[in-house]
Amino acid sequence: MVRKTKQKEAIFKVLSSADSPLSPAEIQTRASLFVPSLGIATVYRLLRTLKEKKKVVTVEIPGEAPRYEISGRAHHHHFYCRNCHQIFELGKCTDQIEKLAPKGFLVQEHEIILYGRCPSCAS
Ligand SMILES: [Zn+2]
Ligand SMILES: [Zn+2]
Repeated sequence: MVRKTKQKEAIFKVLSSADSPLSPAEIQTRASLFVPSLGIATVYRLLRTLKEKKKVVTVEIPGEAPRYEISGRAHHHHFYCRNCHQIFELGKCTDQIEKLAPKGFLVQEHEIILYGRCPSCAS
């Protein structure tokens, strides 16, 4: 039980300090620094629990395995690099987006993913 809590805390700590959404494998690598011998199956299981408790959310890119980030962050969007498959967090948004909806439509939320190449892949 103590061990399980420690593992969950480690995963949460990793996600809290990450500046972009992480894959389970990346989470495993980083969390292993706090709890060595953390298996990937455990990472998946604990991520599922954290998601059920709404502590983490998934970031879904079509055709890619879901990445995870901490829930409750300020509104933001993501950039997906098609070359290195990394996801980057974008801080900005624009209120112009919701004006895309024609008159009479009530926009409740939006999701945007920008696709392209990150600075290291673009150069
Ligand atoms: Zn890249
Ligand atoms: Zn937005």
